[in-house]
Amino acid sequence: MKKVLIVGAGFSGAVIANTLANTGNYLIDVVDERNHIGGNCHTERDPLTNVMVHKYGPHIFHTSNEKVWKYINLFGVFKPFINRVKSIYKGQVYSMPINLHTINQFYGKSFGPSEAKRWIESQGDSTINDPKTFEEQAKKFVGEKLYKAFFYGYTKKQWGTEPQNLPASILKRLPVRFNYDDNYYNDTYQGIPKDGYTAIIQKMLDHPNVKISLGYRFLGEKEDVGEYHHVFYTGPIDAYFSFRYGRLGYRTVYFKEYRADGDYQGNAVINFADEEIPYTRVHEHKHFTPWENHSETIYFEEYSKETESSDIPYYPKRLEIDMNILKLYESEVTNLNKVTFLGRLATYRYLDMHHIIEEALDSAEKFLELDSHK
Ligand code: UDP
Repeated sequence: MKKVLIVGAGFSGAVIANTLANTGNYLIDVVDERNHIGGNCHTERDPLTNVMVHKYGPHIFHTSNEKVWKYINLFGVFKPFINRVKSIYKGQVYSMPINLHTINQFYGKSFGPSEAKRWIESQGDSTINDPKTFEEQAKKFVGEKLYKAFFYGYTKKQWGTEPQNLPASILKRLPVRFNYDDNYYNDTYQGIPKDGYTAIIQKMLDHPNVKISLGYRFLGEKEDVGEYHHVFYTGPIDAYFSFRYGRLGYRTVYFKEYRADGDYQGNAVINFADEEIPYTRVHEHKHFTPWENHSETIYFEEYSKETESSDIPYYPKRLEIDMNILKLYESEVTNLNKVTFLGRLATYRYLDMHHIIEEALDSAEKFLELDSHK
């Protein structure tokens, strides 16, 4: 059997391990520097409240890809869950993403869908033809006032820079709707795993040919991988090359944890749009599992900051300076014929869980196809 090394036990690594293990032709070592599997999707029950906590922040599974949805459902039960986010701005609670309720409340109107659409179009900056930045995208599609209220402050806190420095793609993640649909996502399928994400990933890795080593710090290009036929690397691309060309910019988040009796905020996620409030959002995790009963609650204020060397990278900033550094690392990657880079950190892209799974399934299939001819 051929030996394969997988660096990282998040979704990318687990999907590769599962697909290769199922062929019966590979012996797979999975290593992760943390003391748990699941990467940033890791979930764990809080010992005091018994609430299932998303240890690295809220993860709501959503996809329109039927293959991905069917695949993930092989590894656990997903309960229906619709993420309905609220946003507080100047002491008022609004519905997020921007929808007819948000528009009517914000402007003190009672527009129907087409009136609202015309109104918002009249607010939008029609001189912007091809929006490149976050700010241009917002000004064109929702206008200055809604932009300043719901996106400017939040985004500055989240990304630590003016929204004019950020790409339009970040804002394109959020829909704008002219009806009362307040579902945060547009996808066909959405849910939360009944037993958490770590149980799903555990099941993916649960195979006699897969050996997991936790607390193992992989050394990147300095690691001796001579015994392996192939390596799948899902860690940060710059770390693999010992930061030879410099560090890529990431935002990280940290949480302040609170417990209380009963229900703290009545919703899973509430965003705080005002720049003066230092946190971006508050998440109360028992609302991610409305089918469970908990008399107590645990909730977190989420703060964002620049990633330092000891922090866990979360959000790739992808500023111009980062993209130039990335090109240098990517040209090194093309010289490596037995290492595949995949996942959010190894490709330095802002990917969701469903993107990660889709790409890992494709990557595993391509690898198996090529390897069958070797
Ligand atoms: N955003 C914002 N206000 C909000 C929610 C989101 O300005 O109330 C912006 C912010 O820049 C954020 C981006 O939209 O980074 C994408 O939001 P999303 O909810 O997709 O971020 P994630 O859940 O990945 O943190």
